[in-house]
Amino acid sequence: MEIVAETTAAIAAAPDLDEGLRALIRGMHRLTGAESGGVRLLYHADRADGGCRLLFWLGGDRYEWRDLPGEAGSNVDAVIVSGIPTYTADLAALAAQGEALAAIAHRRDGLRSSLIVPLRSRGRVIGTLHADSHRHDAFSPDLLLPLQVLADHAGGAVEQARLGLRRQEVAEQVIRTLAQVGAAGDTEAALEALLRGAMALLGGVGGVARAFDTKTRQNTLLLAIRLDGTFDHHRQRHPVPAGSMAEAMMDGGPALVIDDYLALDPAVYSLYSAMQRQGIRSSVNVPIQAHGQRLGSLHVNHHRPGAFGPADLHIAEALALQAGAAIERAVLVESERAQMQARLAAEARFGTLKDEFVALVSHELRTPLTSIKGYADLLMGGEAGGLSEEQQEFLAIITRNVDREVMLVNDLLDLSRLEANQVELVTIPLDVGMVLRDVVTSLRPQLQAKRQQLILQVPVHLPTVMGDLARLTQVFTNLVSNALKYTREQGEIAVRAQTFQDCVRIQVRDNGIGLTEEEQGRLFTKFFRAQQRIVQEAGGTGLGLAITRAIVERHGGTISVESSPGQGSAFTVSLPIVPPT
Ligand code: ADP
Repeated sequence: MEIVAETTAAIAAAPDLDEGLRALIRGMHRLTGAESGGVRLLYHADRADGGCRLLFWLGGDRYEWRDLPGEAGSNVDAVIVSGIPTYTADLAALAAQGEALAAIAHRRDGLRSSLIVPLRSRGRVIGTLHADSHRHDAFSPDLLLPLQVLADHAGGAVEQARLGLRRQEVAEQVIRTLAQVGAAGDTEAALEALLRGAMALLGGVGGVARAFDTKTRQNTLLLAIRLDGTFDHHRQRHPVPAGSMAEAMMDGGPALVIDDYLALDPAVYSLYSAMQRQGIRSSVNVPIQAHGQRLGSLHVNHHRPGAFGPADLHIAEALALQAGAAIERAVLVESERAQMQARLAAEARFGTLKDEFVALVSHELRTPLTSIKGYADLLMGGEAGGLSEEQQEFLAIITRNVDREVMLVNDLLDLSRLEANQVELVTIPLDVGMVLRDVVTSLRPQLQAKRQQLILQVPVHLPTVMGDLARLTQVFTNLVSNALKYTREQGEIAVRAQTFQDCVRIQVRDNGIGLTEEEQGRLFTKFFRAQQRIVQEAGGTGLGLAITRAIVERHGGTISVESSPGQGSAFTVSLPIVPPT
């Protein structure tokens, strides 16, 4: 009793937790003569499976703090659950039976025998006090009673220490969890960090975190950690079960602890068949919310009835509330991203449909046009009898318009095939100078008609490019004919080619009507034609430059324009030089 009284007084007078526990360990040593031992402080009263912190005395003046994970099923757990002091005379034998904790004590610390008594405060087991020895059967079981008396007297003082430790543990874990939730890249990662953090804080064995949509009353994301530790997550939407704890959280219900599902009304409990199967007996259930909006729910479970108390409820509630804002942000970002993706997919689908439609229509239009043109030509040639002057004039109008229509349909078909990548280029090493000379020669009649001057400058040794002869001829024919179409009579056009870095650069410059900045921006889009009269009077489809750009890009090249209204325009095409082999 003297030792007990002195020890209790020393604990009460200790300046801090460490000193208090050392005083207790010294008392234990004086009572039992043990060479080592220690005090376990449980993170959760009455439960070994929530982990604990151990102040281990290695003899002499050597002490060591150790964090230990849950010890469900161990000899220490048995003391905590039953509250009965135990003497293990041979830890080695216990270890040989597969008792993991005994194996660790035996192998790592070389312990052979151990007295363990529960530390209690106000009827709850808050830890254990140990007397250990390296010798087999070092103690008499008679020592259990005085050791228990010592532990019972020290209990109240130790509880203070345990609570302090617990508060510190909780604060650290809360901060850690909130930081992880905040740093998560998406809703799933945020919910998982919250769930794992809450389980660690409450000592839960399993749990569920979910995000739901209060409008459709569906889960949008569900994460579950089962009692056996398996992790499950799914994003399929399905209704939040009617009458479930999650539904209560969705409908504004309060956070609540279920002490024992088996004690609930069977009619209610039948809802929890999944829990029944998993063996869940108790749970903590809290809403996840932000700005008064319910976003989801958090559930921490245990296979033991009564595993959670009011303190656990408060911690979970505070944690879920704090995490709510971060989760709300993640949900928002994700739904915006999903909407954007849906929009892009719809646009892409529409784009393909449109292209397919254009290709189909153009093809279907071409056949009747060929026939109209054929018969108009026959009429014009007098094959069906002589024509009056007026009839000839009308027929000429028909032919001109049919020609325009054919041009439009051909361009449309061409462009839609280019865009759908259905055009095979037949590429050969090409002398661009030769292509340009041919283009200029073929356009000579039009140039002469408008009395325009054309200068062609091509250096003697121009590197070859890999190109499709017909397609590149089409490109430069379009650029040069635009230059002459959109330049007044007697205007000047210059076509130059030169080497620039690893490209051949071809420039078609005119001193024609030019283009405004705004027009330049729309120049390569389908059907763009400027408003000026000269443009409207000159025939054209507004597809030429779109086709030109598509062809140039298929060659791995680029096209650009420089222009100012009234001054003229310069179109520059760059085509990659064939690397010398
Ligand atoms: P099209 O010549 O059949 O109308 P394009 O796609 O070749 O079709 O040209 C689109 C429009 O760009 C023309 O209608 C014209 O307004 C403008 N444009 C093209 N080339 C020139 C140029 N060299 N000078 C001024 N405007 C031009």
